[in-house]
Amino acid sequence: MITFRNLKTLSRKRATLSFPSQDARIIDASDFLMLPALIDGHVHFRIPGADHKEDWKTGALAALSGGVTCVVDMPNNHPPCHTLHHLHAKKKIIDQQLKQAAIPLRYQLYFGADPRHLKEIAQVEECIAGIKVFMGASTGELLISKDADLEKVFQLARIHDRIVAVHAEDEQILSERKKALGDCKDPAHHSLIRDRSAAISAVEKLIYLAHKHDAKVFILHISTKEEAHLIRQAKQKGMRVYAETTPHHLFLSDADYAAHGTYVQMNPPLRKVRDQEALFEAIDDGTIDTIGSDHAPHTREEKDQPFGKAPSGVPGIETVLPLLLNACTQGKLSLEKITRLTRRNIENIIPFPLHDDCVIVDLEKIQTVQNERLKTKCGWSPFSGMLLKGWPIYTILNKQVFEVERGQFLP
Ligand SMILES: [Zn+2]
Repeated sequence: MITFRNLKTLSRKRATLSFPSQDARIIDASDFLMLPALIDGHVHFRIPGADHKEDWKTGALAALSGGVTCVVDMPNNHPPCHTLHHLHAKKKIIDQQLKQAAIPLRYQLYFGADPRHLKEIAQVEECIAGIKVFMGASTGELLISKDADLEKVFQLARIHDRIVAVHAEDEQILSERKKALGDCKDPAHHSLIRDRSAAISAVEKLIYLAHKHDAKVFILHISTKEEAHLIRQAKQKGMRVYAETTPHHLFLSDADYAAHGTYVQMNPPLRKVRDQEALFEAIDDGTIDTIGSDHAPHTREEKDQPFGKAPSGVPGIETVLPLLLNACTQGKLSLEKITRLTRRNIENIIPFPLHDDCVIVDLEKIQTVQNERLKTKCGWSPFSGMLLKGWPIYTILNKQVFEVERGQFLP
């Protein structure tokens, strides 16, 4: 039995927690705080089709290292997860890899909306997180660019009581701007090509459709002040519109291209410092419901290609919690808010079997984000070099204690 004695909790009462183990060990945890383990509602573990970037063995290890015990994986794979057949095949590989890793990570999958396979949405009987729509092209081939198809997705979602989770960037605006701006060599142009108007226009359309079909819509990785404003208004009208943002949109801005180039290129792109401030305000007043890492790893070789060839996406599952705890130590966020953003609200939006996984953190631990310490297969982070205060020490998954420093479960 491993016993954590004298742990701080959010209710300010001290707790003693015990977990089964071969050893009899008592850990003085009086300097540590227990929080609910995170659910990361937005990851790309790249299986099937791109296991050179990540797989579920490295992904699960990265998750536990970041205090995450449950992930929701996106369907833009090769082949995409947009038919029943592909959904079942994907689950089979994931279960095999988690078994090989001996990590019983909890997970849910999104089902991809594809114009040629919309009928399949009606045939999914098992538990899925929801239907994922790409309104603008991103990594992979999933795309719903026609309004008529988007309408169909909303109709199906309403009939089958599924949430529609959306990558909201308007494809027409994106392609027009790409044409107008020509062949850019500067990674900073990424934010100009994928201009904020593409995101704002897509969110306007989604709110209109959510209203028309009385549907539940989850707008992923919002990045601008204007999107936050539109969603705030929709919520005030009582609509079932939910919003996610990401750590990179909260803690990086378009000023970071100068130092990091394509290593901070993702979709939607980085915005202005005033947008970062607006996102924090939207977190504060409850407009933003969740924070997902949008963990989207690519290899260094892929990212080292010139702008235009380098793919969009950054890893992030290991740094969500340290970044948020660091923001907490700076007075920008409360611990209660972090818990709502990374666990409670996601449980309310996407139906998960409830569990009592937790993460034990040290709010005083100061450490730099170092590429060498990361467990993600890609081995780099856009936050590398940042000095952060507040780190996870143990992650408890289904009563098994994972020691972050050693990167393994205690026996
Ligand atoms: Zn994503």
